Formats: sequence, C-alpha cells, structure tokens
Amino acid sequence: MTPVLVVRGAGMAYPGGVHALTDVSLSIDEGELLAILGPSGSGKSTLLNIMGTLDRPTSGTVEIGGHDIAQLSDRRLSALRGRWLGFVFQQFHLTDGLSAAENVATGLLYAGVPRRRRGRLALEALGRVGLAHRVGHLPHQLSGGERQRVAIARALVNEPALVLADEPTGALDTANGRAVLALLTKLNDEGTTIAIITHDRGIAELMPRQIAILDGRLVSDTRTGVGVGA
Ligand code: ADP
Repeated sequence: MTPVLVVRGAGMAYPGGVHALTDVSLSIDEGELLAILGPSGSGKSTLLNIMGTLDRPTSGTVEIGGHDIAQLSDRRLSALRGRWLGFVFQQFHLTDGLSAAENVATGLLYAGVPRRRRGRLALEALGRVGLAHRVGHLPHQLSGGERQRVAIARALVNEPALVLADEPTGALDTANGRAVLALLTKLNDEGTTIAIITHDRGIAELMPRQIAILDGRLVSDTRTGVGVGA
C-alpha cells in the first residue's frame, strides 16, 4: 500500500544560514495516529509546513499519496492539498460571522461540491465530533473545546487522507484538551489518519507512534503499537 505521506531527506535552510530542518525522513501509512514531539525551536512548524505542502523543502522530497510535490505547479499543489490534507490549528481559525455548519462547509469550498451537499456533509461532520446540537451557533457562542471540535469537523469534512493537527490542545484547559485528544483518538479508530504536532511529552505518550525532533533533526521514531487512549 502506498503511504499517505513520505518525507525523504528533507532539509530547510533559511537565508542567513539557519538550518531549521536537516535530513528528516519519515513515512506515514493510512490509519496511523502519531505525535511529532519537540521543544520550542526544534523545527516542528517547519516540518509541519513541509508535510502540509505549505512550504517546499530546500533539499529532499515530499510525496503525498505517491505524488512528488516538487513536480506540481502551485495550482495543482493547492488542489492536491485540498483533497488530501486537513488542518487543525492551535487557535482554531474559525470565521466569526459564520455558524458552526457554515464554518465546516468552508472545508469543501474548493472541492467543487455543490452547495446543498456541502450543507449536508457539514452536518454529518459536526455529528461525528459530537456537535449536532450546535450547528447554528456562531464561534463566539461556543466554548474553546467546542470551537476546536468545529475546526476538527472542518478538517474532516472532505475526508482527507491525513489530518495535521498543530498543537490542537494548546489553547484549551486540561479537561477540554483531554476531550479533544479523546475525539482525535476516536476519529482515528474510525479510520482517519492523524498526525499531532506537540511540545508536550504527556500528549505524545498517549499516541501509538511518537516521532521526536530536536535541533531540526529526527532523533527517534517509536511505535508502542497501542495508544492508551486519552
Ligand atoms: P518550532 O515550531 O519547533 O518552535 P520552528 O520550525 O518554528 O520550530 O523553528 C525552527 C528553527 O528555524 C528556529 O531556530 C527558528 O528560529 C528558525 N526559523 C523558523 N522560521 C524561520 C524563517 N522564516 N527564517 C529564519 N529562521 C527561521
């Protein structure tokens, strides 16, 4: 089976000689749940941007579903990103004037899905994250944990091959953070492939696979095989 994402020997050098990443290789298979763990400044955001095809590495290659992203124009790359990847951010990034359902439907805007079907899929996705009773609420009428669940529904609505979650619990209190991790674990049990980027070892240890990075290098890639769940 073709892995969902393969990074081979990726490096990222910024002008001025900063090497944010050096020779990073990793492969993610369909159905995995993993954490990418590293302290502040270790290169997590840089790696996330490369894995999410938002940046191209200055050396090495990235393949999404067997497509080498270096071969694609920016237009084809953004189409591939929209179809294959879902993103969850620490600060949710919901649009204020839109309801929960409308926010989720924006995840389908570029997928060429007709409007009515977008609405139906958005409601389904909100159901999967336990928010069927909040579909008409605006972001400011929702708790932080609920907002993050809306953002997760938006990431899922297009059934991406891989969800990249950047510090998804970073803006939440412990209880809401736990609930979001439990939700991500449940979604993985249902088949969604998920990579969680975190600086928190306690979160990484809840995941069945942990990739650690330090000073821009991958220092370990460990599969415990069993997630203890959140
Ligand atoms: P993390 O997300 O783990 O905090 P980053 O990927 O943001 O780490 O940063 C890794 C290293 O690369 C840091 O030393 C940072 O200062 C440097 N860096 C990140 N982005 C840039 C940039 N645009 N230009 C120069 N250096 C950068």
